Amino acid sequence: MVETHGIGLHTAVPVHIQLLPAPPDTGYVFRRTDLGGFELPATVESVAHCGYATTLMRTGVMLSTVEHLLAALRGLGVDNVFIEVDNLEIPIMDGSAENFAEIIERAGIVHQPLARRALLVREKVFFEQGNRRISIEPADTYQIDCLIDFTHPMIGVQSLSVELSDGAFSREIAAARTFGFTDEIEALRRANLIRGGSLENAIVLTPDGMLNQTGLRFRDEFVRHKILDIIGDLALVGARIRGHVIALKPGHAANADLAREIVKQHAKIAALSVPRTFPPGEGGLDINQVMEILPHRFPFLMVDRILGFEGETKCTGMKAVSVNEPFFAGHFPGHPVMPGVLQIEAMAQVASILLMKLAKSASRIGYFMSADEVKFRKPVFPGDTLFIHAELIKARSNRLAKARCSCVVNDAVVSEGDLMFTFLDK
Ligand SMILES: [Zn+2]
Repeated sequence: MVETHGIGLHTAVPVHIQLLPAPPDTGYVFRRTDLGGFELPATVESVAHCGYATTLMRTGVMLSTVEHLLAALRGLGVDNVFIEVDNLEIPIMDGSAENFAEIIERAGIVHQPLARRALLVREKVFFEQGNRRISIEPADTYQIDCLIDFTHPMIGVQSLSVELSDGAFSREIAAARTFGFTDEIEALRRANLIRGGSLENAIVLTPDGMLNQTGLRFRDEFVRHKILDIIGDLALVGARIRGHVIALKPGHAANADLAREIVKQHAKIAALSVPRTFPPGEGGLDINQVMEILPHRFPFLMVDRILGFEGETKCTGMKAVSVNEPFFAGHFPGHPVMPGVLQIEAMAQVASILLMKLAKSASRIGYFMSADEVKFRKPVFPGDTLFIHAELIKARSNRLAKARCSCVVNDAVVSEGDLMFTFLDK
């Protein structure tokens, strides 16, 4: 547990926050300790409004200015945390995320046993609002490119590209402060905003300079803070992101809209991967035909059907991994993942169907002898559809065979290996 305190930028109230460890799949959950621990999850569904700060609300309870703390959590790779807050706004600290990053680093990050889920961006998502534009497209890492353009002489056009890995957040982004203009201050004050604002927690710009005596922390501190805000706002998708963000004059509202679109796209794709029946393709086999070939039966039959063969050497099968699989009960209670050895078994069963077809005889069965180069790349969860590929790469004699196999979920290889077989009479 670590803590810090300060005042709210908009409300000027004193606030105390504590970060506490949370179990896998919790995400970021705020708790209003002044309201009996009322919980506000940091999700797109909770976003109430985002004028000058990002505000969460659930059944009338709100929490303001969450974006800099969320940026620090996401930027430092924290996936699960309870954040206890004793007032209605996260403290502004010095206007940056540096203090939050420091306390997170001081607390340390525990690696949890369950592989963390990443939100893979699969199609470009684009959002436009006036002259603001923000998009995200598929990428292997989380990268943000941002461009801003202010007529102010200290800002002008600034652009920066940051890939969030290896401490980049702490080094490049965390210390960049929020900023405002003197000619907007009166209007904001009249709107009852920035009541806690001061030169201690923002860069304040006059028409041709700045009021702060201390100077800038980076020559391009302004675009760095915009990237900080994007990371914080997109943290509301509830998972780490793999995608490339391109932002032109971003703002909280456009960022939140993009976050909502990302979640929508992800839900649509997740719905597509829900188990469903497939028509048997050219030469596919349904469950009865599979059971005519394989001697395996529930719960050891790991193939629901064969989708098809490609020539004499390739074959693809599928299995809908249901939450009712007996192995989930003990592997592991509360956090079910499909055991890797059963994925190998699924590969072996699909490969032996392929071998059977090759042998053109149902009187012999391929026995699985050994496995090489086995790798488990991603966890398989209840609800996943496993596509099992087998390709014959060597048939030295009519007694031995080798098949290169892989299991795929949502277009990503989750496990692979080379399997050796020998043929025996049934
Ligand atoms: Zn900000």
